[in-house]
Amino acid sequence: MQFSQLKINDLISRALADLNYDLPTPIQVQAIPPLLKGLDMLGTAQTGTGKTAAYSIPLLQKIITNRSTYQSPILTSLIIAPTRELAAQISASIKEYGKYCKVKVCVVFGGVSKGPQINNLKNGIDVLVATPGRLLDLVDSHFIDLSRVNYFVLDEADQMLDMGFLRDIKRIISKLPKVRQTMLFSATMPKEIVSLAESLLHQPVRVSIGSVETPLRAISQSLYRVEKKNKAELLIHLLKDEKISSALVFTRTKNAANRLTKKLLNQPYKTEVIHGNKSQNARTNALKNFKNHSSRVMIATDIAARGLDISQISHVFNYDMPETPEVYLHRMGRTGRAGEDGITISFCAHEELSLLKDIQKHIGMEIPVIRVPITFSIEETTSEISSTKEKTDSFPSKANAKKRTSHNSPYYHKRNK
Ligand code: AMP
Repeated sequence: MQFSQLKINDLISRALADLNYDLPTPIQVQAIPPLLKGLDMLGTAQTGTGKTAAYSIPLLQKIITNRSTYQSPILTSLIIAPTRELAAQISASIKEYGKYCKVKVCVVFGGVSKGPQINNLKNGIDVLVATPGRLLDLVDSHFIDLSRVNYFVLDEADQMLDMGFLRDIKRIISKLPKVRQTMLFSATMPKEIVSLAESLLHQPVRVSIGSVETPLRAISQSLYRVEKKNKAELLIHLLKDEKISSALVFTRTKNAANRLTKKLLNQPYKTEVIHGNKSQNARTNALKNFKNHSSRVMIATDIAARGLDISQISHVFNYDMPETPEVYLHRMGRTGRAGEDGITISFCAHEELSLLKDIQKHIGMEIPVIRVPITFSIEETTSEISSTKEKTDSFPSKANAKKRTSHNSPYYHKRNK
């Protein structure tokens, strides 16, 4: 199918052509026609599938169509995203797609001063991309009026729930007009999302594309059994391999991310670190340097695991095993994007073996073990997971995550048919 068959306005088509979007992606083929008709949508899809354009193209088309009705820009489209980085990324994409449409797009998120955001809002906007907390703050202080919103997108809904935004989301929804078009996208469909969708959507069209199982096809997975104290040394050793052009390294806690960053300081490549305790400027700069490949390594907590579209990450390292199988899949989804090959390497200490067991059960396969170089000792015994008091960054505790059943994963369904 061609974009021309989707009956997209020429102003938008020109912008897509500038971006070399020759053909619509599968989610765009499925989602654009019903969204242009004004239907609600429930989508199982993660970032990396072309989801942003799938909901932004109809949004822009709607604004162009209604343009003559409004004298000045009116906030009619609202997109909520869980993280500041994702909100900024979505806003940048909509600006690209709408660059010939004179659409005013604004993004608001916490962690930075409100002043410039308020100034942008004052000039009038058509589209607002926001994280929940800052949005409510600006609504409560009357800088944002949601009463004319008729196109509402909840993006990465499962992550928003994991980050504890459910109450905020419900408050935001209570401020929107009852008559509107609503879209909810989520990488996984735990029952909390299903019930949110039921309360929010009216006879939604369902689309399911590029869900969390997709990366498994293009991504090679392997595992080192290594003691915790030897993990840094193993990572430094592996990073000597020049084939690792860009590595995203996940730690479980902010402290662990900081400690590991210090250990990599003297290496002959630049390392960035990104987590929830970093200022927004530091986070933006880290991401920029990693994205433009001036830094080869980025150490991250799971705040960076979802949503971000960073092309050409050759390797994802699970320096600490993820707390849940879903997080494993999301981390892995950062590599091998847009059909590229990717490699995920996990470091599993003996106290993390039960996490590994859960992951392997969930994905329905054993992750191949690579023998560690002789200098690093291996623990072969199984033991209970150690309880740790360090604070994790934004994602649910194992106990919470256990409440979700593994069969929520589309991958599980696929494997168990
Ligand atoms: P998203 O899932 O929206 O984050 O998009 C993932 C990546 O795919 C982004 O880098 C987009 O620029 C790119 N993309 C989206 N739609 C298309 C398309 N039709 N053709 C080529 N690339 C696309």
